[in-house]
Amino acid sequence: MYGLLRFLKPYRFQIACVLLLIFGQTMADLYLPTLMSDIINTGVMKGDVGYIWRVGRLMMLVALGGTTASIVAALLSSRTAMGLGKDLRDAIFAHVEKFSLREFDKLGTPSLITRNTNDVTQIQMVAIIMMRMMVSAPIMCIGGLIMALSKDKGLTWILAVTLPILAAMVLLVATKGISLFRAIQKKIDKINLVVRENLEGIRVIRAFNRVNHEKQRFHEANLDLTETSIRAAQLMALLMPFMMLIMNLTTVAIIWFGGIRVDQGTLDIGNMMAFFQYAMQIMYALLMASMMFIMIPRAQASAARIHEVLATAPEIVDAPVTRNAGRERSHVEFKNVTFSYPGAEEPAIRNVSFDARPGEVTAIIGGTGSGKSTLLNLIPRFYDVDQGSVLVDGVDVREMAQEELRAKIGFVPQKAVLFSGTVAENIRYGKEDASEEEVRHAAEVAQAMDFISQLEGGFAAVVAQGGTNLSGGQKQRLSIARALVRKPEIYLFDDSFSALDFKTDARLRAALKREINGATVLIVAQRVSTVMDADRIVVLDEGRVAGIGTHRELMQTCEVYREIVSSQLSEEEIA
Ligand code: ADP
Ligand code: MG
Repeated sequence: MYGLLRFLKPYRFQIACVLLLIFGQTMADLYLPTLMSDIINTGVMKGDVGYIWRVGRLMMLVALGGTTASIVAALLSSRTAMGLGKDLRDAIFAHVEKFSLREFDKLGTPSLITRNTNDVTQIQMVAIIMMRMMVSAPIMCIGGLIMALSKDKGLTWILAVTLPILAAMVLLVATKGISLFRAIQKKIDKINLVVRENLEGIRVIRAFNRVNHEKQRFHEANLDLTETSIRAAQLMALLMPFMMLIMNLTTVAIIWFGGIRVDQGTLDIGNMMAFFQYAMQIMYALLMASMMFIMIPRAQASAARIHEVLATAPEIVDAPVTRNAGRERSHVEFKNVTFSYPGAEEPAIRNVSFDARPGEVTAIIGGTGSGKSTLLNLIPRFYDVDQGSVLVDGVDVREMAQEELRAKIGFVPQKAVLFSGTVAENIRYGKEDASEEEVRHAAEVAQAMDFISQLEGGFAAVVAQGGTNLSGGQKQRLSIARALVRKPEIYLFDDSFSALDFKTDARLRAALKREINGATVLIVAQRVSTVMDADRIVVLDEGRVAGIGTHRELMQTCEVYREIVSSQLSEEEIA
């Protein structure tokens, strides 16, 4: 966790300035009561107006200096803390971008979001408080005590009684508060989880009439948080009046016993006033210190969470020496590939070998969970294989630069992902500098023109966040167009035709065939009609290759394939 301290480095100058300013302000605060006692003792009691003016002017100057230092320190410390927060968010974001899917699986997307927002805010807050209190609280306590003693030793016993009580109280509340605030942090996480799941799954919740169940779930999490928060607030509420009571009792005691001594002539009235003010300063410093004690553990928990992200090394990194693609263009080859997800008992892909050659369409078919998506994800190196190797253009993907590898690939994921923006912007995501003509052409091949032209504004129509204003099939076609506009060497379609009707599916594949010239196409599908006319079909069954060949060959040799076909097509279609 202390690794995060490196983020303070760029701000060391500012921090030093703040600490120095606060030091100055504290010194001014400590000096003021002494000046005041001088005015009263020498000026007022002896009627020396000139002295009052002289010391009064000095007092004004000191007060002005202290206030200015305090204002500048406040500005500077806020600036520093906000800058620190910005740096942390940047660092987390940049680091997370390097993660492979394995790390996303491990840390969880919602948690990554909370870490980059809420946890950073906690750190910012504590950074401000620390900068201000770290210097002033201890100096105030110790300096105040010394100054008070220098004013009068006879009243010290009052502080000797009240300060330990106060300190004990602060300590008690702080230790109790720490565990409460830790619990609150966890409960906020829980609420976040429930809310997120609800918002994302609202359609399912409605459809299955689970609204009341979800309400109850939220209610419980909410109540839990509320109860803990109330207990924390009660504790704090208890602290305040108690502190005020002790402060007031101290005041009364000082004036009472001080008054007696003033009456006897053994104590100057100015010294008594100064003593009183120092006592207040010490108590105030203690109060502030208690705030700090409560905030630090919260920030500590946040810092640990942030550190966990930053300390997670991305598993997939470029090899120290990368190789350029070989001479064979757009060729994908699997050689005895085995891969398992972390924590899974069985490999998702087992000993898979096949070849996908340029200018041909290679289809992959298999039941759900047979490992089709997993297999495709290995090509852009979203995951690394456990055994064997995936070759692109004759080079192992682990030896290639990730950017170079992914520049070759047009990937259409199983679940279409769109970004908020216009239709054209979403298609251009595949190729930033695509001309209008290129965008239009990609949309035509993807069979998206008919619905785009119906949209208000056509290509300039707005796609809502997550593409919620489009149908599943429309989203799929846009994400296909996005891959097409890239004119990649390798096309990867992960079940991308599943939401299209048969006619559109067929038209799209026919248009695609004319489009690809020389590229390698890998189509994952569950529908036999989608893969039937592919040059080569790979049949997957529980992560294993059950057969490779054309539709005709497989019908004769592959039992698994025959089963899939007979479950989907009628007798005459098969013939
Ligand atoms: P398909 O695309 O053929 O339906 P997948 O490749 O998505 O199948 O999944 C293959 C197997 O791997 C399944 O048993 C699934 O439960 C598992 N799996 C898929 N994704 C993950 C993941 N991110 N973490 C762990 N297991 C996974
Ligand atoms: Mg899949």
